[in-house]
Amino acid sequence: MKNKLAIIGGGASGLIAAIAAARNNPSLPVTLFERNTRVGKKILVTGNGRCNLTNTDLTEYHYHGEDVGFVSVALSSFGLEKTLEFFADIGLLTKAEGNEIYPYSLQAGTVLDLLRAECDKRSVEILCDQYITSLKKINNQFIINDIAFDSVIVACGGKASPHLGTDGSSYQLLTDFGHTLTELYPVITQIKTETDYVKQLKGIKIEAVAEIVAANLTRTCIGEVLFTEYGLSGPAILDLSRIAATNTQNSPVIHIDTMPEYSRDEITAILTKKANKQNGTLEELLTGILNKRLGQVLLKYAGFDLKYEISLLSYKEIKKISAAIKQFSFKVTGVKGFQNAPVTAGGIRTKDFNNTTMESKLCPGLYATGEILDIDGDCGGWNLQWAWSSGYLAGKSAAEKLKNGDKND
Ligand SMILES: Cc1cc2nc3c(=O)[nH]c(=O)nc-3n(C[C@H](O)[C@H](O)[C@H](O)COP(=O)(O)OP(=O)(O)OC[C@H]3O[C@@H](n4cnc5c(N)ncnc54)[C@H](O)[C@@H]3O)c2cc1C
Repeated sequence: MKNKLAIIGGGASGLIAAIAAARNNPSLPVTLFERNTRVGKKILVTGNGRCNLTNTDLTEYHYHGEDVGFVSVALSSFGLEKTLEFFADIGLLTKAEGNEIYPYSLQAGTVLDLLRAECDKRSVEILCDQYITSLKKINNQFIINDIAFDSVIVACGGKASPHLGTDGSSYQLLTDFGHTLTELYPVITQIKTETDYVKQLKGIKIEAVAEIVAANLTRTCIGEVLFTEYGLSGPAILDLSRIAATNTQNSPVIHIDTMPEYSRDEITAILTKKANKQNGTLEELLTGILNKRLGQVLLKYAGFDLKYEISLLSYKEIKKISAAIKQFSFKVTGVKGFQNAPVTAGGIRTKDFNNTTMESKLCPGLYATGEILDIDGDCGGWNLQWAWSSGYLAGKSAAEKLKNGDKND
């Protein structure tokens, strides 16, 4: 009887695994099971609908997990060059925005259309509306919905964004075979802080430098910061959320430098000059320098009454205002949950998988790829790249093993 391969999960890593398997072993029947009514629902919303599909800076630094070195083989065997070649080969023109790579069309839908077309071309059988809750191995065969397969790739994603089909219920497909799960955290998400000041600034966006400090861990990001009712959001904040989520016991604090182009001394000089020329109260001191509301809230944060006369400001007080402008600090109280987060940190432990094939060390013939594993990347294309790299490697390895007639024992 012919060998058969099943893939559970039709997201980024499942689709590319199916294509890699079919390309490497064209006579191998490949069946992909997806719980949603169609595959790739998550791909459609990536990068705000534009799909930031990879990043030119593919180093391990941008990945996280208990054993981050696990990513090395997948990233070197199917890294940036191979990924771009693959997408060019299926018909996708790409472009770079800084280090981030997008489809030239800036439409995530086109990435999905081409992946589906390639699956079609390679005769991958796609079965949607198939929520797989049981995976058993009997007599060296994996049983899914009463159908026997020789190998299975589990590509079910994590726990973040459950409305897209990833609610964390599918880890059990692997834990049933003895695999273990780390703690799970929502990441690349908005950060909740004490709300005294952020609430007053709700809706204001600034270009800033944001730094998170939790015990001896720090991370700094430059970019847009958005003040919200519950805390902080915006691109510069999202990459701080991993430390915020995983270090609550270390009372993380976020410092925002609201005028990163200027040193504290330069700001003091600007304010001293302004204070010498300007009449009236502090309410207008920062008008023309910062967003007006931000300026007023910063003065309150620095401990001033807005009715205080500018003419009464001492040099020491001006330095206090510069200090607040350079370091506007917020105690972190948590992060937004899995419902809103795009990515899960943590997952199935990688130590029980072979990183040269993505095959389980506990159950031969069983493979796992993408976000279901304990690997997460920074914001900027690294998560999809992990899905492409690990998915391609798993599909290729599974297909080659079955081609060679190796037994799953
Ligand atoms: C809003 C948003 C924006 C993002 N933007 C980017 C970006 O621009 N760049 C980037 O690099 N990353 C981005 N990500 C993260 C990236 O999309 C994921 O890390 C990546 O898609 C993970 O791929 P995966 O194949 O492991 O899992 P998923 O893409 O999550 O796919 C898993 C699939 O398995 C299916 N499934 C789950 N359980 C079962 C089951 N039991 N039976 C059958 N099917 C099942 C699910 O329905 C789903 O289709 C974003 C994520 C979100 C939510």
